Amino acid sequence: QKFVYSFGGGKADGKAEMKTLLGGKGANLAEMSVLGIPVPPGFTITTEVCAKYYEEGKKLPEAVKPQVQAAIAEMEKLVGAKLGDPTNPLLVSVRSGAALSMPGMMNTILNLGLSDAVVEGMAKKTGNPRFAYDGYRRLIDMFGSTAMGVDHEHFEHELEALKQAKGVKNDTDLSADDLKVLVEKYKAVYKAHTGTDFPQDPIEQLWASIMAVFNSWMGKKAVEYRRIERISGLKGTAVNVQAMVFGNMGSNSGTGVAFTRDPNTGADEFYGDYLINAQGEDVVAGIRTPEPIAQLDQEMPKVYEQLLGIRKTLESHYKEMQDIEFTVQDGTLYMLQTRSGKRTGSAAVRIAVEMVAEGLIDQKTALQRVNPESLNHLLLPQLDPKAKDKPVAQGIAASPGAASGKVVLSAEAAVAHAEAHPDVKILLVRKETSPEDVAGMHLAAGILTSTGGKASHAAVVARGWGKPCVVGCEVVRIDEKTGTVRIGEHTVKAGDYLTINGTTGDVMIGQVATVAPSISGHFATLMEWADKIRTLKVRTNADTPIDSAKAREFGAEGIGLCRTEHMFFGDQRITAMRKMIVADDVEGRKAALAELEPFQKADFVGIFEAMDGLPVTIRLLDPPLHEFLPHDDKGQAEVAKQLGVTSQKVKDRVEQLHEFNPMLGFRGCRLPIVYPEIGDMQVRAIIEAAIEVKKQGKSVLPEIMIPLVGTIEELVFVKTRAVAVAEEVMKDKGTKVDYLIGTMIEVPRAALTADKIAEEAEFFSFGTNDLTQMTFGFSRDDIKGFMPTYLREKILPVDPFQTLDANGVGQLIEIGVAKGRKARKEKTGEHLKVGICGEHGGDPESVAFCHVVGMDYVSCSPYRVPIARLAAAQAVL
Ligand code: PEP
Ligand code: MG
Repeated sequence: QKFVYSFGGGKADGKAEMKTLLGGKGANLAEMSVLGIPVPPGFTITTEVCAKYYEEGKKLPEAVKPQVQAAIAEMEKLVGAKLGDPTNPLLVSVRSGAALSMPGMMNTILNLGLSDAVVEGMAKKTGNPRFAYDGYRRLIDMFGSTAMGVDHEHFEHELEALKQAKGVKNDTDLSADDLKVLVEKYKAVYKAHTGTDFPQDPIEQLWASIMAVFNSWMGKKAVEYRRIERISGLKGTAVNVQAMVFGNMGSNSGTGVAFTRDPNTGADEFYGDYLINAQGEDVVAGIRTPEPIAQLDQEMPKVYEQLLGIRKTLESHYKEMQDIEFTVQDGTLYMLQTRSGKRTGSAAVRIAVEMVAEGLIDQKTALQRVNPESLNHLLLPQLDPKAKDKPVAQGIAASPGAASGKVVLSAEAAVAHAEAHPDVKILLVRKETSPEDVAGMHLAAGILTSTGGKASHAAVVARGWGKPCVVGCEVVRIDEKTGTVRIGEHTVKAGDYLTINGTTGDVMIGQVATVAPSISGHFATLMEWADKIRTLKVRTNADTPIDSAKAREFGAEGIGLCRTEHMFFGDQRITAMRKMIVADDVEGRKAALAELEPFQKADFVGIFEAMDGLPVTIRLLDPPLHEFLPHDDKGQAEVAKQLGVTSQKVKDRVEQLHEFNPMLGFRGCRLPIVYPEIGDMQVRAIIEAAIEVKKQGKSVLPEIMIPLVGTIEELVFVKTRAVAVAEEVMKDKGTKVDYLIGTMIEVPRAALTADKIAEEAEFFSFGTNDLTQMTFGFSRDDIKGFMPTYLREKILPVDPFQTLDANGVGQLIEIGVAKGRKARKEKTGEHLKVGICGEHGGDPESVAFCHVVGMDYVSCSPYRVPIARLAAAQAVL
């Protein structure tokens, strides 16, 4: 069996496709060799050896030894130097390299092959004793700490002591003689901690280093990294042994890292840094400031030209933006690594689209190159990259994008401020938020809270709206009384400007410039390609004309969920709503509902206008009524005053409405069954609005949706009443509009009896938030106590409220779609329209599932519409 693959000298045993066996680094070194790109020769020990090493109780298979020996001989021939030969020594590096990149997680040993005899030879051969001894002391340190487990601190301690004794600040200030002394000290440290002398035989060094790399595969750091990044199913790491080249041999040497295109913007420009007279780690360590790559044209014009050629070769070969490392040794260029480069969402889009124009890839490949999630980057206001403001605090990045605004400390203050100064942006700063705050939250440009995590109310609501949000920023202290916010040592008053960056969690004082999103240029082109391919339609969840218009701009093909309860907030509305809830009888409720009706109707008119020609699904009131009442004494007293009733009355009503399990309580279709007048008012408002907009010459396609249905009888009850009201309104107005009445499928029983339900429902929309909640028996608002543990312990692979549980909840969906479609077809001959409107409608993996089960559309928040469009296209490919 072949365990060792050589590369170098314009040929290689391996190739790029062999990543699983050779690891990413090894496979690409082989590929570059074959392409005729200068790569220092070497060999790769396969990941299979790593697997066998562990299978056999940390022993290498016998056959590895002779293969390694043969590979060394070949490498020696290509370089023209020998391991351990003092007159003409070969030095090598030993590096890890798994199939997926795990930066910095495993061991690397450089300068291997140096010994007391060889270091002298090196000094002579290069005429640079400082360089030789510096290399030697680094080897003893790296080998000692990574292969033999000596704490690196012990070596570091000797280095510091010597620098102090010599009165110098930088390592580079130490002379060759100083380094000679240091080597002796390092050897003493080595012996003191291992009980043996530093090995003088390079082959002994090599084997110990190879084992060290394999051992690091199961090291704590690497295991932890794989867990966090959810990397599984890899065989192990490969080991790359490669001839050393030195960028620190003088002013004609250097080293650099670069991207073949700009990874931030995607611009087709060579992008990177280099340092003259330095080794790779110096560029990364940031001790010296590297020069921009274009500068190399001045310092080493030949090398620069060669690099530009390699940049072209690599891109046209890999057809992908590459991230490269190179070293120049005494005027000769060597490539040490190439791999596809990480990039921002905007760069990904631009690169994919431009590569199609360049003929490198086709449109389908371009669509697959962009992670739908990464489009977020293009959809939100971003901090102006040119801004120089420094953050004063950092919280949890809860919803990406940047926002600047005047600080307001309550939702009411936000509403008041927005009414008085509609053009001034505000930033809502609170300890936490609750459903009562949504009106104010909606008006804010961004939200900052001092408590809460990624799943807190503020975070979830903000994300739904695509509003920048930072939560859990613990140094923020709010004093509503004095109207001040303390952020660490800074104090900000209400009305002062503050800026948050929801992408990073940063908080900055003052107004930092932002740049606005739009779908144009490359982004628009990619979206057009996606639309050509996808079969799934994409609608939006929106409940205001503004959101509807925004979603339409982002490509929404209708509204899949208008949550009417969101229309009951805001000063006058909430008061009327509360009046309705507190009312003693039907008459009282009807009077309050009559106050609400014009608001509802006006909202519907606005939404129908914005969605001219597209379907609009409006859901009847869903949440339990107590959500509209305050639960504290002070709040209740205020409401009592507004309504002109006693505080006790409000308190009693709140108590009456109290539920132990509100999510399974008095909500959804249960409301219009017990209080039909609520449903009546909503249906009337919908149909009247539809007639009004139709009269303007627009095309209106209302779809009335009944939530939380579990039995056909529930649906029939509410539907019958809705049809009666709709017909009455149309007769009254002397105008007809086409409308549908359908249902949400969000109770497991509805999915299981979908055949029955489809006899009455004209469409289905899967409410996967509730369906997930009820299938798992997880309260969607109370998972924070256990979900992190569930994910860590791999009891669940992902949060099922984020990514649809295809195996469980998915079965109910499949049953629902199949039974529903069949029954509807049999009864009416019609195709039953099926969609999804839970949060999953904007999650790429869940969108793919919806495509596979044959849904007609997904519906998601406006800012996720482009993400869903791309995900729907990828589902086809
Ligand atoms: C759902 O349950 O998936 C849904 C869309 O409704 P809501 O989130 O409003 O309960
Ligand atoms: Mg629901």
